[in-house]
Amino acid sequence: MAEPDLYNILGVKRNAADPEIKKAYRKLAMEFHPDKNPEAGDRFKEISYAYEILSDPRKREVYDRHGLKGIQEGAHEHGGMGADDIFSHIFGGGGLFGMPGMGGMRGRRRARGEDTVHPLKVSLEDLYKGKTSKLQISKSVICKACDGRGGSGGAQTCRGCRGCGRKVTFRQLGPGMTQQMQSICTDCGGEGETIAEKDRCQTCRGKKVINESKVIEAHVDKGMRDGQKIYLRGEGDQQPGVEPGDVIIVLQMKPHEKFQRTNDDLFMTHTITITEALCGFILVVKHLDGRELVVRQPAGEVVKPGDFKGIKGEGMPQYRNPFEKGVLFIKFDVTFPSNNFADEAKLKMLETLLPNRPPEPIPSGDAEEVVLTDYDPYERSERGGRSEAYEDDDEDGHSGPGGIQCAQQ
Ligand SMILES: [Zn+2]
Ligand SMILES: [Zn+2]
Repeated sequence: MAEPDLYNILGVKRNAADPEIKKAYRKLAMEFHPDKNPEAGDRFKEISYAYEILSDPRKREVYDRHGLKGIQEGAHEHGGMGADDIFSHIFGGGGLFGMPGMGGMRGRRRARGEDTVHPLKVSLEDLYKGKTSKLQISKSVICKACDGRGGSGGAQTCRGCRGCGRKVTFRQLGPGMTQQMQSICTDCGGEGETIAEKDRCQTCRGKKVINESKVIEAHVDKGMRDGQKIYLRGEGDQQPGVEPGDVIIVLQMKPHEKFQRTNDDLFMTHTITITEALCGFILVVKHLDGRELVVRQPAGEVVKPGDFKGIKGEGMPQYRNPFEKGVLFIKFDVTFPSNNFADEAKLKMLETLLPNRPPEPIPSGDAEEVVLTDYDPYERSERGGRSEAYEDDDEDGHSGPGGIQCAQQ
């Protein structure tokens, strides 16, 4: 038998313009909608399907060139369910058009079950060293008591959806505007078939599958990253006649108290005193695998606040190439002594060791002497009065110096 012609279904010519197709579709859809015309059977689905293809320029072009087969293959490639799904229901069921050479389609459509996603919390240590995690998951497995048939007797085609597992509803959005919606058939739960109460398997209560708890192993490889997925092929939920999907483990890295990671590099901050910054220091870094790295900064090599230094080959291992590692960067903070840490005489002595001062600036005759006070720009509200006096400054965002002057009044 020849392939059904989508243009014929809508009663338009092959070169019909878009508005013409839309008009034809609306007219037929109203006429054959199941609510108005329950006897029309699958006619409405055919009309909807034809319109779905012909109203989409990309799909229409594929159809014009390669026919329904092209549409069906395209749907497979793009992983989309829409067209392919409806296609199988309408044309692949066998009864309607009996298309030769398309028999295996339904089987292919249902070839694989859905994947299940589980998060797995890992530490930075786990990602550095790699590890095997055991996860307890709950999944559907084929009921052994009935061999996945759901009962002793055969299953009957669901009357609610005529076996397709879906119901098409048609909603009037406004004058001349309609929306077509598909939903899972509630009578059969989308299975397309039902099993009589008395025939149902005792173990799975006709569901064909039972829930089982299983411990699975996920191998976290060295160098894996936050958000990376580990695929456990075929560990997903089982369903009769369907190849099970995968269990997908998504790594969620817990923040580390010492190291931050950027790609294959690690970053840490280390605080030293001004004495160490000027006179050298020894730093011992405990690494993610427990090793201790010793850094000796010789006296005379000055470390300034905010300086970055790096250690090659002590970052994270590269995924799938773990002997190559990134850089461990250390950012240095320097603490300064507190006020009056030494008397004036000692400070004079200290000054003799430090680099010379720059020449002192000479103020002009009418310069004013002012005093610096400690000032925290984030604690403005506690300084009563200044916000009123310098309101205009606030709006301009120049609040800093104003605050200091005001505190003197
Ligand atoms: Zn059973
Ligand atoms: Zn049904």
